[in-house]
This record gives sequence, structure tokens and C-alpha cells, in this order.
Amino acid sequence: MRALTATLLLTAVLGCSATGRTPTAGAPPPVGMGCEGPAYPAPATSQYILPYAPGLRFPTGLTNCSSSFHGAGEGDQYAYDFNMPVGTPFIAMRAGRVAKVVNDQPDEGEDGGAGNFLVIDHEDGTFGLYYHSPKGGIAVAVGAEVEQGAPLGVTGRSGYAGYPHLHVIVVEGHHEWPYLGVPISFRNANPRDLHLRSEYAPGYLADPR
Ligand SMILES: [Zn+2]
Repeated sequence: MRALTATLLLTAVLGCSATGRTPTAGAPPPVGMGCEGPAYPAPATSQYILPYAPGLRFPTGLTNCSSSFHGAGEGDQYAYDFNMPVGTPFIAMRAGRVAKVVNDQPDEGEDGGAGNFLVIDHEDGTFGLYYHSPKGGIAVAVGAEVEQGAPLGVTGRSGYAGYPHLHVIVVEGHHEWPYLGVPISFRNANPRDLHLRSEYAPGYLADPR
């Protein structure tokens, strides 16, 4: 995200307060989150892990369909923002081949929404995108094969990022904007919600994972 206005934040909060529950397995997200489309995979068998080292905890900013830049019906509706300080190592949510790296953008700035980023080809028609690293913050090269959990670089706030965070999304078919995001869950999130709650939502618990 770039800059949440008070109005957008209020919209996000109100949207979430209308639900007050965790979606059930196999069902679409509840009315009020604004998410529509295919069901989320069951977290216990998800192919994805959280994009940082096990044992660490970070709050989520914008999550799925949480208004603003992750709004329902937009390309990034199934994206997650993890509010990780500048310079925090991040890891591969899933194994694959590095398909694209941009590593020369300024540490801060709005030229190119993603800033410094990389794309991992999961080799099943889906791609994992990781945004907003500092200049030179991506540590892998195009063509490299990476295992799940492999270090990919460090987080920052380049591109459209009003504060430091890692924006991740899995897309299907191709990875150029406008892309089609797909819903994912995380095998090692705690609790194993179908999708992670935003810290902007009512009832958010600090360090829920
Ligand atoms: Zn984001």
C-alpha cells in the first residue's frame, strides 16, 4: 500500500467488523470481507509457508480484500502485507525457479509500484511475487532454483510502500500487471486461518502467529 487515508482505513475496519468470525474450510470468505472467487485451500495441506523464518512474528497490515490497495475485485485482492522492518530477511513461501528480479530501484519512491521485487515460477502455472525490497536487497538471480524456505533477500519500502513491509501474492497464468491473484493459506500460520487477519481489523491480537 502507499498511503491509507482515514476514509479507506475506516472502510476496512467497518468491512471486517461485519463478519467477526473466521471463514470455514472450503467456503468463500464471509460477506463483509468483500472477497469472492474460488475457495481457499485447507491450511493444513497448503503448499505455502509464511515468508519469514520460523519462530519470528510480524503483524499483517493489509490482507485479502482489506480495502485500499488490496481491494476486492482488484489484482491484489489476495495479497498480504507483512509489516517487517527494513532489512529483515524473507524466505520462499514455496519452491520454484526465479523468473524475474528488479533490484535497481531507489530504497524509497513511487516509480513502479513494486519497487525492487522478485518473481518465483512455481512451475505449475502460478508465480509468487515479493515486493518492496531496498535497492540491491534481492539476493537471488534469475534462473536460480530455490527451495521452500530459502533466503531470497531483505525487506524494505521501495515502490508504493508508505511504510516498510513485504507485499506477497501468488498469481496465475502470468506475472505481469494486470495479473490474476489466487487465494492462498499458510501451512505454518498460527492460528491456521484460511486467510490471515489484518491488524486493522477489530479484535486483532498482537502477534497472532
Ligand atoms: Zn500490499
